[in-house]
Amino acid sequence: MYLNEAQKRAAAHGEGPCLVLAGPGSGKTLTIVNRVKYLIEERRVRPEEILVITFTKYAAQEMRLRLKALMEGRRLSVTMGTFHGIYYGILKWAYRLGPENILSEEEKYRMLRQIVSRQETEIFDEEEFLQGIATEIGVLKNRRQDPGEFQPGQCTAETFCSIYREYESMRKEAKKIDFDDMLVLCYDLFKRRPDLLKRWQEKFRYILVDEFQDINLVQYDVIRMLAAPEHNLFAVGDDDQSIYGFRGADVKLMFRFLKDYPEAKRMLLDVNYRSAANIVRHALQVIGHNEVRFEKKIRTQKPAGTPLHIQETLDSEDEAAYVVSEIQKRLEEGVPGEQIAVLFRVHTDARALAGQLVKQKIPFFMRDSMPDLYQHFIAKDIRAYLRLAGGGRDRADFLQVMNRPVRYLSRESLPEGRTVAFEDLRKFYCDKEWMQDRIDQFEWDLKMLEKMAPYAAVQYLRKKMGYEDYLRGYAESKAVQPSEYLDVLGELEESARPFASREQWIDHMQEYTQALKEQKQKIQEQKTGVRLLTMHASKGLEFDTVLIIQANEGRIPYKRALKEQGAEEEERRLFYVAMTRAKEVLRITYVTVKNGRDASPSRFVEELLPEKGGRPAG
Ligand code: ATP
Ligand code: MG
Repeated sequence: MYLNEAQKRAAAHGEGPCLVLAGPGSGKTLTIVNRVKYLIEERRVRPEEILVITFTKYAAQEMRLRLKALMEGRRLSVTMGTFHGIYYGILKWAYRLGPENILSEEEKYRMLRQIVSRQETEIFDEEEFLQGIATEIGVLKNRRQDPGEFQPGQCTAETFCSIYREYESMRKEAKKIDFDDMLVLCYDLFKRRPDLLKRWQEKFRYILVDEFQDINLVQYDVIRMLAAPEHNLFAVGDDDQSIYGFRGADVKLMFRFLKDYPEAKRMLLDVNYRSAANIVRHALQVIGHNEVRFEKKIRTQKPAGTPLHIQETLDSEDEAAYVVSEIQKRLEEGVPGEQIAVLFRVHTDARALAGQLVKQKIPFFMRDSMPDLYQHFIAKDIRAYLRLAGGGRDRADFLQVMNRPVRYLSRESLPEGRTVAFEDLRKFYCDKEWMQDRIDQFEWDLKMLEKMAPYAAVQYLRKKMGYEDYLRGYAESKAVQPSEYLDVLGELEESARPFASREQWIDHMQEYTQALKEQKQKIQEQKTGVRLLTMHASKGLEFDTVLIIQANEGRIPYKRALKEQGAEEEERRLFYVAMTRAKEVLRITYVTVKNGRDASPSRFVEELLPEKGGRPAG
């Protein structure tokens, strides 16, 4: 592959700072790799003097492979890594830290899980909650803010503070530092010890940074210190793809770079080599709605390609069926699974799709694990009801649901042993007339449920038996947003729809939970199959075919994210990143019913339609 003139000029930039600002697919990453080659071969820079920083470990691996291919397999001692990896290297050396002093992400989650389980609040999706808390702790540390001043997104400030303090004391007790401490410690180290700083400055004489738009202030300050006094700092980025503001990244730093280094060379790459022209055109149509951006020219290289297709679907199951059929079509056309990606805003959006892929035995790969809907307490309630309706009389099932909704049945009313009969309950309450009515009603409801298909059964449970009202009250007593529980109930109701019998549905739940477990193991081993990725995780990657699902209001833009200022634009950039991953085919789908309620297409989808309510763009 030959670089174009602008790419060549960038790769062969001489000494001093340089900022390459360019759109997606324009060869920024490719240029970085070629610049490394150029520095080594043409400028006789020693590979050890080169430091390349990428945003994720995955991206660092990819880049290493690309460089290796370019250098015809020669082993090179170029340092390539993430900010964290590099800072760890520096701290390790200065403080004689060993791996035992680094709090791994798993340990961190283990600690947080422990702390959170001691909290009063009941949480639906523990994984999501922990992730949120971990992110917020990171932001706090990177901003060097006091926890008391912090506005957390998913719990009260008080709860957050107490989790934070406990976490910090556990961490210190274990004599460990976490990834975010590393950045701050590194900064402090360089400030305090100019002698050490000097040694690292002499080691890394050339610094190259990919995805510069997602840098945060502490990272930026450390990089600047490291790059002095020669300032051989080569940064590439795209302000339109800045998507980590919620984590403290600040796109303004790109422009500050130009102020901090007035002598910096500025370059633009303006040809998109990745995507068919239609894809680029539509992506620009969306991002053009952002006000805070640096207008870039983007030319295309590829033919128009197939028109963009926006598909309206009924609900998640219907959508998943559509997506599976599209995936099958592409696979039959010879596109390998790894070149097909399904992108979504949050993991739970992929639940229906993952279920259908399991059913159809289409291999897929998810880098991050998804919380299992069927392990939620609401799913457990429903399963218990269905088993009781089917004639099961397990004590455990009784215990699970006898007071959901509240019936004032006491634990003692259940006889010892594995099974329970309604007669036992009646006997226990023989002197209480009003309890007899409750027990009759309970038994009657189970008889009604017995005759129903799963979907109708969930609706009956929800409306006629008062389970929905029970959940509302329960949520309030736990200081949880009722919508959290109602969404789960809605998802379960939807997922029941394709099943004709209770047994089928229960079997599917088991199969699904099993597949998800296997999937978690597989993540370590093999990496083949259709990609299921969050939009955030898709950054920097490219695929032949991209399907964006659940492009709905509330999802993208994500309603929880919208609370912050500037969030709508960040969400739009995220949508733009997702669209621009596609090389040949891009499909966008949205649902009209979500969790039992009407849902409307994302405002970004509306921006793609020629006029409101218009037909699919193309
Ligand atoms: P992103 O902003 O999404 O990270 P990028 O600017 O880093 O994109 P690359 O990933 O480097 O873009 O390149 C996108 C695709 O275009 C790659 O498949 C790359 O091989 C191809 N490409 C880049 N430049 C050229 C070129 N001059 N000739 C042919 N193909 C090119
Ligand atoms: Mg790139």
